[in-house]
Amino acid sequence: MQKLFGVIGDPIGHSMSPAIHNDAFSHQNIQASYHAFHVKEQHLEDAVKGFKAIGISGFNVTVPHKTAIIPFLDEMDELAEAIGAVNTVKNENGKLIGYNTDGPGYVAALKEEMNSPLRDKKTLIIGAGGAARGIYYSLVYEGVSHIDICNRTIEKAEKLIHDCPYKATSAALSMHAAAEKLSQYDLIIQTTSIGMSPNTHASPLTLENVNQEAFVSDIIYNPLKTAFLQEAETRGTKIQNGIGMFVYQGALAFQIWTGVFPDTKRMKKIVLEKLGGTIC
Ligand code: NAP
Repeated sequence: MQKLFGVIGDPIGHSMSPAIHNDAFSHQNIQASYHAFHVKEQHLEDAVKGFKAIGISGFNVTVPHKTAIIPFLDEMDELAEAIGAVNTVKNENGKLIGYNTDGPGYVAALKEEMNSPLRDKKTLIIGAGGAARGIYYSLVYEGVSHIDICNRTIEKAEKLIHDCPYKATSAALSMHAAAEKLSQYDLIIQTTSIGMSPNTHASPLTLENVNQEAFVSDIIYNPLKTAFLQEAETRGTKIQNGIGMFVYQGALAFQIWTGVFPDTKRMKKIVLEKLGGTIC
């Protein structure tokens, strides 16, 4: 029988996940189909119960359900539990198990695109929302020992650092303080929604003091090159956009469900076609 997979969120209409997963199933000769399901907050519990009742094999979870779904799951993977957010669920013999592949997906894409050891990189994360949380925890888990976080609401950066069960040397900074000492960082990761379409001219902070040898990453993929990345490129640093993170979170979810790691180049090509870009 064909296996069923999907993604739940609100809104969900523009999700690129069905395209990448359905292509990967067919490419790997796996009899399965993947659909987008629009689930409103008040229907989340019923939706999860329904999925269980019909024996769905697995699903992704996106905004705004990544934390709210946790009470409706049977078990949690260690990293997802630490992060406090789930983006992937696997049905194992009737038990729904929650995973988080956003943070590990980001780290996998970073390793591929940066192509130099991560551990000794003095790192700055801009933003302290859900995505920053997954990325911070995954980088610390990976052994990166110095990671500062700057955020508009500094208390959120403090809380994020305090809550993390894995330890690193970290300070919570204001945006202004981070911009002032930017030259100290080897790796700068932009995780706020500032610069996302349609507000494409906005940027979270000036890169005036950036070190030319630094690697500058932005997890936004629409636009493919944010104003922040454009400035970084102009100042001579290497840059990375959010496509890699999106592709690898999907690839790791696919691997959790099927045991097979899919062709990420194919996935990237599909995403870029949908966004109207070209392979870089
Ligand atoms: P979130 O939890 O809502 O966090 C938003 C972050 O942006 C917070 O740090 C918030 O600061 C900051 N922010 C928002 N508007 C701001 C403003 N006007 N001025 C200063 N700071 C502002 O969102 P998220 O889930 O972490 O997602 C953040 C971004 O990452 C989105 O653009 C999303 O599309 C992208 N993303 C990409 C991927 C991928 O696969 N590439 C995956 C996940 C997310 P405060 O704490 O002060 O409010």
